[in-house]
Amino acid sequence: MSSSLRFHVVGEAFKKKPVEVPDSKERPSEFFAKYVFNRQKMRKYLPAPVFSKMCDVIDNNSRLDLPTANAVAEGMKKWAMELGATHCTHWFQPLTEGTAEKHDGFVEHDGKEGMMEEFTGKELIQQEPDASSFPSGGIRSTFEARGYSAWDPASPVFVIGDTLMIPTVFISYTGEALDYKAPLKKALHAVDKAATEVARYFYPDVNKVICNLGWEQEYFLVDEGLYAARPDLLMTGRTLMGHDSAKNQQMDDHYFGSIPERVAAFMKDLEIKALELGIPCKTRHNEVAPNQFELAPIFEETNLAVDHNMLLMSLMRKVARHHGFRCLLHEKPFAGINGSGKHNNWSLATDTGILLHAPGKTELDNLRFLTFIVETLMAVHRHNGLLKASIISATNAHRLGAHEAPPAIISAFLGKQLSDLLQRLEETDEDEHLNLAGKQAVRLNIPQIPELLLDNTDRNRTSPFAFTGNRFEFRAVGSQANCAAAMIVLNTAVAEALTDFKQRTDRLIAQGTPTLKAILQTVRQDIKTCKPIHFEGNGYSDEWKQEAAHRGLDVESSAPLMLLNYVKPETIQMFGRMNVLSEAELNARLEIKLETYTKKIQIEARIFGDLCLNHIIPVATRYQSQLIDNVHKMKEIFPAETAEKLSAENLQLIQQISEHASYITEHVSQLVEARKVANRLTSEREKAIAYHDTVAPLLESTRRHVDQLELIVDDELWPLPKYRELLFIR
Ligand code: ADP
Ligand code: MG
Repeated sequence: MSSSLRFHVVGEAFKKKPVEVPDSKERPSEFFAKYVFNRQKMRKYLPAPVFSKMCDVIDNNSRLDLPTANAVAEGMKKWAMELGATHCTHWFQPLTEGTAEKHDGFVEHDGKEGMMEEFTGKELIQQEPDASSFPSGGIRSTFEARGYSAWDPASPVFVIGDTLMIPTVFISYTGEALDYKAPLKKALHAVDKAATEVARYFYPDVNKVICNLGWEQEYFLVDEGLYAARPDLLMTGRTLMGHDSAKNQQMDDHYFGSIPERVAAFMKDLEIKALELGIPCKTRHNEVAPNQFELAPIFEETNLAVDHNMLLMSLMRKVARHHGFRCLLHEKPFAGINGSGKHNNWSLATDTGILLHAPGKTELDNLRFLTFIVETLMAVHRHNGLLKASIISATNAHRLGAHEAPPAIISAFLGKQLSDLLQRLEETDEDEHLNLAGKQAVRLNIPQIPELLLDNTDRNRTSPFAFTGNRFEFRAVGSQANCAAAMIVLNTAVAEALTDFKQRTDRLIAQGTPTLKAILQTVRQDIKTCKPIHFEGNGYSDEWKQEAAHRGLDVESSAPLMLLNYVKPETIQMFGRMNVLSEAELNARLEIKLETYTKKIQIEARIFGDLCLNHIIPVATRYQSQLIDNVHKMKEIFPAETAEKLSAENLQLIQQISEHASYITEHVSQLVEARKVANRLTSEREKAIAYHDTVAPLLESTRRHVDQLELIVDDELWPLPKYRELLFIR
């Protein structure tokens, strides 16, 4: 882009007015889930027996037979066609990022040389998308070539534009998962089973435990024109060069500040569209960095919450473009200011309405509360390395440990009251017997726990896994990640911990220990075992890194090495035992994650090299020539001594430009060479490690010199929109 074009684009961006959003007279309660085939619609569009069968399928996981599926498909088709749908698609979450879909028309020959609209139960239940271009990590070559998608009735179908969208799992013909949803559903089943059994110690009428997820989606907006003028943003989602703006977030004036008009119009539009699709949007605000914002819904059952997050991310990208923006979901689009995360608020609840991670009114409630808190810590402790692997990616790696986001070490924060309580339980051991609820039991030496445990001040922002009153907040998840990756690991690990807990407690009970006393005894033992994961201090400090290593926590900071946790013996054992993922599936997942890591850095390195050689160096050289020209002219009009004095600064600049330019040219060659060496490696593991160890650092160090040039070179010549232009929406 020529410099004059840059000024044109910037000027246009700053002149833009907000897009009018039609002022809806309807309230959210009236248009919520307008495009979702939920129970309300089912009741209206399905015959009564079919409706009750479907409820049984959704609530109790009972089998869906073909006649029912056919009847459901008929009702769905009628509803969808009334909304203008002409096509349907199975919508799934392959192991790439994002979602995938393949649209089929509702049309069929009518046998009379005409067409009719048709949609059958078979099409609803199962399809065979051409799976060959989705990553399988070698599963398809070792097993079976085809993959199929199968309807997930627990997540309702919805209509977008002219298409009926059907949430599905995506699996190979031999049953291996090729997506996120299949293992997520298995993990949720595992945690339901294990937690129900433990919950029954306390409340025998519990039949089911539901896992809740409330995500908080952070994102950046940039003007579309400026975005188009940054090939790096366009191709990689982040700026590969760019000097800090003189003003960025140091004034803290953006956080919770008033929302710019253009952005407010976007948010309103987005929320209406999200609510219509059944996403229960609740909170919106500015975030810490300029141009950074957050949207959070009311929490939901995890399988649905994950689908809603995937849907929201694609909606955000789409709606942003209608408003002349691009929505950046990358974890670190700009160096030097905060990146974006997606806090995952997680808790378990019974079908009888008890929040297992919240304190209650009675002593029994409180023992239940402690049990679930401590067993969650046991899970996080045992699999802290794997939890880190579940959230790491080439993009999130820029954010973790960057002193604005959770450190690259997983630990759990509990707050003062709960920490004191655990300490007391660990240190004391005197339980009196008493008759609790008519049963022979023990007086538990648990002090009263207030129901509202924490206020907002008692919040350690540096912790990656923090207890916040009635839930845990897993903060290390990246903004563009599929939450399922983290939720699969967390729920399976908790299922394993609860299963172990139950086995050990049952053993004590079998030996004659009263139930509640046995529970307390196991909890006490576990408080000691999981102590190393519990950390209340500053997670950003250097001392913590040493302390964590000393405690035996995973302190690995290289992303490819973190990923290897997916195939550690205790990981394979856990996923196998909980029936969530097989060893072959884990190997496949690791392979895909490593390959994705490599590709991301490979693309960045290529774009960076091109930008340096085609944009930056030519401009620097042009400016340098202008300066040299000026030095010569000075000599022509001034006596030698005066000319020298007057040109001193320019001579210095000329030299600086030469130094930076030759550094950049030389290191871009090295970057190409490092890529070639890495590309020759045949193992995905070694390749990813090489990209991490050699390519990525070269890119970062060379970038510094480009950023220095940006400060020196005449602004009028600089080809790329600068941070100060990208980051301040008017
Ligand atoms: P913050 O102060 O961390 O931004 P919010 O009050 O905005 O917290 O809530 C963040 C998210 O946590 C929301 O999606 C909310 O619905 C969710 N949340 C609240 N309680 C629970 C819970 N018990 N389990 C899971 N998620 C929850
Ligand atoms: Mg939060």
